[in-house]
Amino acid sequence: MMIDEVLSNFPRARLMTSVTPVERLERLSNRLGLDLWIKRDDLTGLSFGGNKTRQLEFYMGEALQQGADTILITGAVQSNFVRTAAAAATKLGMSSVLQLEERVADMGEYYHQSGNVLLAQLLGAEHMSYPKGEDEAGADNALHERADQLLAEGRKPYVIHLGIGHPPLGALGYVAGAAELNAQISDFDAVVMPSGSGSTHGGFLTGLRLAGQPAPVYGICVRRDRNQQRARLQKVLGRLANMMGFDPALVMDDVHTWDGALAPGYGRIGQSTREALTLMARTEGIFLDPVYSAKTFAGLLGLLEEGVVRKGQKVVLLHTGGQPALFGYQDELQPS
Ligand SMILES: *Cc1c(COP(=O)(O)O)cnc(C)c1O
Repeated sequence: MMIDEVLSNFPRARLMTSVTPVERLERLSNRLGLDLWIKRDDLTGLSFGGNKTRQLEFYMGEALQQGADTILITGAVQSNFVRTAAAAATKLGMSSVLQLEERVADMGEYYHQSGNVLLAQLLGAEHMSYPKGEDEAGADNALHERADQLLAEGRKPYVIHLGIGHPPLGALGYVAGAAELNAQISDFDAVVMPSGSGSTHGGFLTGLRLAGQPAPVYGICVRRDRNQQRARLQKVLGRLANMMGFDPALVMDDVHTWDGALAPGYGRIGQSTREALTLMARTEGIFLDPVYSAKTFAGLLGLLEEGVVRKGQKVVLLHTGGQPALFGYQDELQPS
C-alpha cells in the first residue's frame, strides 16, 4: 500500500516545520552495549514540539475543512496535547477552549501554574476545568456542552475527542511518522515508544508494517497496565485500519506492551523514571519529560534487563517531547 496515497485521502494542515532528525546516542550506546538511536520528535517545531504536532495535522485538517473557528480539547493539567492544540489553532487563525482534568491528585503549585499551564495562558486560550481524571466520556461531554453554547453564539466549534469511540485521526500522523523514520534508517531491530491514548503507538506500528518493516514495536505503558493497554491498542488499530481501508489482521497480533515503569501511576514519577531522566540528561545532554519519554527510556532499560532487547541490537527510541512539563514537576524533580 502506498502510504502517501492513502494519507492524501484525509484533509491535513501542515504544522511540521520539517522531518525530525534521527541521531545515534554515542555515549549511551557505549554505556548500555546497544546501537542506540533516537528519533527526535521533540523537535517537530510547533510550540516546543512533541508528538501532538503530527497528530494535530489531521485533526486541524478536518477542522479547517469544516470551517471551524474554535478548537475544543481536554487533557491532564500538564497536557502537551492541549498546549500544542492551542498553538496550532492560533497558527491557523482559530481560537481554542482548553479543558484541564484533575487526573493526578495532590499536586502542588508548579503543577497547576507552570509548564504547559503557563504556556497555554500565554497563548491566550480559554480555560475550563473538569474535576475527574478517569472519565473520558464525561470529559468529552463537558466539551460538547461548551461547544453547544458556542454554536448558539454563532461560532463554529470543532471538538478533538479523548474517548476511544471516535475516528483515530491523530494516529494518521504517526503512520506518516513511521514512514518518515523508515526512510531515514530501516535496518533497526526494535523501536521503543510511549503508549498513552494509543494514537502514537497504533499509528506508528501501522505505518511501519505498511512500509514493510517487521521490527517489533514496544509500547511502554504510561497510563494503564499492559493488558488494558493492549486491549486499547487493538481497538485503535481496528478503527485505524477501517478508516484507512486495509485488513486490520496485518497489525492486530503485533502489539507489545510493557508496564514495568508505570508505577506509581499516570503522571507520577517512580524511581526508575527519575533515574532514566537523569541518565539521559547527564550522558547525552537531552531532556526527557517526566510523564512519557522518561518512562519510555526507563522501559527500554527494563526491556534490556529482561533480555527482551539484547546487547548489540540496533534500537530506536522515539522521543515524543513534553519537556515543558519538567517545570510543572519542579517540586518532584529538584535534586535534593
Ligand atoms: C501525549 C503524549 C504521549 C502519548 O501519546 P499517545 O498518542 O497519547 O499515546 C507521549 N509523549 C508525550 C510527550 C505526550 O505528550
